[in-house]
Amino acid sequence: MPPLTTKKPRGPWPARLLSALALAASVPVFAADVANPFFNDLGPLMVAGALLAFLLRDRAARMGAIVATVLWGVSGFSPTGKVAAKVVVLGVDGATFDVIDRLDLPNFRALAKDGTRATLTSMEPMFSPLLWTTIASGRPPAEHGIRGFHVASTDCEVARFWDIAEDRGHTVGLYKWLVDYPPREVAGFWVPSWLAPGPETWPAALSYVKELELSKRMRRKQVAARHGTVELVWGLVKAGVRLSTLARAAAWSAEERVLHPKPARANLVMQTMRGRIDRDVFVAQLHARDPELATFTYYATDGLAHLYWDQPEIVEQAYRQADAILGDIRLHLAPDARLIVVSDHGFKAMDGTGLAGQFAPLTERLRARFTAEVGPADVTKVGHKLTVGLADPAGQARAVAWLSALADAAGEPFYRVEDLGGGSIGLTLTDEQITAERLAADSVGGEPIADYVKLTDAYTGTHESRGVFYAVGAGVPAGATLEPVALLDVAPTVLAALGIPASIEMAGAPVVFPEVTPRVADWDGVLLDLTWLGGEDGQNEEALKAIGYIE
Ligand SMILES: [Zn+2]
Repeated sequence: MPPLTTKKPRGPWPARLLSALALAASVPVFAADVANPFFNDLGPLMVAGALLAFLLRDRAARMGAIVATVLWGVSGFSPTGKVAAKVVVLGVDGATFDVIDRLDLPNFRALAKDGTRATLTSMEPMFSPLLWTTIASGRPPAEHGIRGFHVASTDCEVARFWDIAEDRGHTVGLYKWLVDYPPREVAGFWVPSWLAPGPETWPAALSYVKELELSKRMRRKQVAARHGTVELVWGLVKAGVRLSTLARAAAWSAEERVLHPKPARANLVMQTMRGRIDRDVFVAQLHARDPELATFTYYATDGLAHLYWDQPEIVEQAYRQADAILGDIRLHLAPDARLIVVSDHGFKAMDGTGLAGQFAPLTERLRARFTAEVGPADVTKVGHKLTVGLADPAGQARAVAWLSALADAAGEPFYRVEDLGGGSIGLTLTDEQITAERLAADSVGGEPIADYVKLTDAYTGTHESRGVFYAVGAGVPAGATLEPVALLDVAPTVLAALGIPASIEMAGAPVVFPEVTPRVADWDGVLLDLTWLGGEDGQNEEALKAIGYIE
């Protein structure tokens, strides 16, 4: 008689494998959450582990699932305490009420209901590095000295509100304000904006954020050589990046490989990914460093609007993200903290229809020729308009005369020249009818016109003067709308929110918050003793090109 063979019962291995996978996911998430308490923002996923624990019959597998559930659940709680910040300034580059109100965004709506809003009137030349410097200093470009993009934070000749606040003993946290490179060592944090050519931050541990951004310019391999991928991701996690952001990055990586998405989709994902990383790191640093004054600036509302104003569904996603970030930041602020939201300019459809809309002026040949024949300058393009920013404003009259004399083949002035004063000159084309025939035949000051303008339909949106201003917090009237506010009013307003007087040199006045009197004669003395962290020379030219300021 053959020995009786009993069928072996189905082994516990599938159950144990599932349980091991749950543990393999939750242990590193738990460890990351110890380093960054905001890391696990996908807490509800613990339901999957609980379900597993309920379904698995094998004892060891069930234990594993329970442990995984507990680790995931515990790490899923994020700090809910309020931060110490007394004043937070949120910059939304290029934001306009035309889109905010059309979309009826919930957090912007709540901000208007709880606080005060107004149109913020921008100034020419409408070029962001210069405008954000005007906002921060309360001084016009002729005085602050930031006219082009070949500038560093050390070139700003006047004090900005964070310099003044710091001098008065307040701790500051700066996140991507324009013209803030190189950074300084502060009792808070300082992460420079997209113009920065190098990765320096304060504290240095935050530089992973900048390295990731610069990696396209420096090529991934070089970044990987400096810091391996694992170290880069771990550095980002420790700086504050959340699990949902990593999951989004992984999903994008798969989409990119499988679906080969169009450039517009890739651009949208990259810009909103940057928005997520920035929000994650800013909120974590608000908690970790607890500055009394903090700033955060969001740029996708400008970058995407230049390219896709004619595709509202893309621009809207940037505005929805700005709204989400606003909501997230408010969640962490004490009820009496003061939040000021500003844009540097508004946005509109590119003017001109048909032929007049299908061109872009070029910057490089004009810059080279101007520099050779008149003197050093930056030439920047925003929409159909060029801005010439002189290194030396004393050359203004000569520059205006030289630019006015540039004629086309028929002897007519090629540019309509607008003397903006203070080292800035605005240029538009006298004849905006650009056709392929004209591009082939016409000339500018004896050189081929094709070096000065090109046919393109890449840009559909451009800057306009009506930006946004909001304030909320202690002492701010709820539900009020003010008369238009000037850019020059913002710095005195931020200082007043901190209880610091403006200087007599500032032409604007605080809105919403009462003026602190008497004004001081001048704040610029606070710049004398500042020490800057070393950095690289130059600008992030790739970022300037991506936004369309130069080609
Ligand atoms: Zn712009």
